[in-house]
Amino acid sequence: MKELRWGLIGASDIAATRMVPAMRRLGHDVTAVFSSSGERAAAYAMRHEIPHSTSELELLLARDDVEAVYISTTNQLHHPQTLAAAAAGKHILCEKPVALSLADAWSMVRAAEASGVTLAVDHHLPGAATHREIRRLVAAGAVGRPLAVRVFHAKKLPDHLQGWRLRDPQAGAGVILDITCHDASVTNAVLGQPLEAAAIAVAQGPWDTTAEDAVMTAIRYEGEVLAQTHDAFTVAHAETGLEVHGTDGSIMANEVMTQDPVGTVMLRDASGMREIEISDRPDLYDVTLDAFTRAIRGDGEPIAGGVEGTHALALALAVLEAARSGRTVPVVTTPPEAS
Ligand code: NDP
Repeated sequence: MKELRWGLIGASDIAATRMVPAMRRLGHDVTAVFSSSGERAAAYAMRHEIPHSTSELELLLARDDVEAVYISTTNQLHHPQTLAAAAAGKHILCEKPVALSLADAWSMVRAAEASGVTLAVDHHLPGAATHREIRRLVAAGAVGRPLAVRVFHAKKLPDHLQGWRLRDPQAGAGVILDITCHDASVTNAVLGQPLEAAAIAVAQGPWDTTAEDAVMTAIRYEGEVLAQTHDAFTVAHAETGLEVHGTDGSIMANEVMTQDPVGTVMLRDASGMREIEISDRPDLYDVTLDAFTRAIRGDGEPIAGGVEGTHALALALAVLEAARSGRTVPVVTTPPEAS
């Protein structure tokens, strides 16, 4: 039997370009695909050699040969589709942002718990070998007490993705829910509890957009640690990066906020600057799928579970409100039942 049998919810670009190839590299089966259009579902199934297609979600969820679903529809659908999948007893790997509101996100976490299924969110960055090494260095005291993190995540939005991300507020358009929430999965994993966020966002790209396409943030974490991020759809030639600065050292990692297993990690301290060698660099989506599959079998945790995905959303939503209001906004990570 194959390691895991998947149903795809969403005939998306990310499923075609990243996740389905990763599933097949790991020896998983992609059994069926759901699209809101039967025609698109059938064409997608044929193009990607998926045996079954449907435009009725209940039919995909009723299949015995679907053990887990990968939800990669536009963001407003993640919540209802996760609830439906949990009710059908399917394990769920959901794309980010996990939802568009914290109430929805927590209800997804609770629905998965109630059904006894695994819920993970596809924040691929914390699983990268570079990011694991950075967290290992910080935990080992290589930078001393962390003081600040800087994230550079400004890229040019590719032509073929210049649709709902720019123009559909209902789908959660804008760079903050698209990219800042990825940064949050990284900075939360390094620094712990975010407390408050300030932000300025603009629309600066060469397109008609209803949403912000560039944002700079300043975030305060527990322990008086600061983080800043620059996220954009508008910058064509910048490298991405992640820096962690502490009392005894600084980590400078270039080109590590990407979908590919690339980038360099440098450590500078009193003894000078050196590159940290990272020899084993598995594909980031393979890592996400492998951890998810093992979590289903009771062996470890997903790279980002439902709670981590919700905490990343909490920071992104605080940034969004800060940018809109011009105020510093608290980051709310407590579940509604605890507040
Ligand atoms: P796409 O625009 O490719 O797909 C999203 C939805 O749009 C699909 O589910 C599909 O609906 C609809 N759609 C796709 N193509 C067409 C078309 N030609 N005509 C009409 N409708 C179409 O989105 P992405 O793959 O870029 O993103 C999907 C999700 O994945 C988002 O939540 C995004 O945030 C996330 N994402 C995550 C990444 C990561 O690395 N973790 C990277 C990129 C995206 P239907 O299914 O009904 O056919």
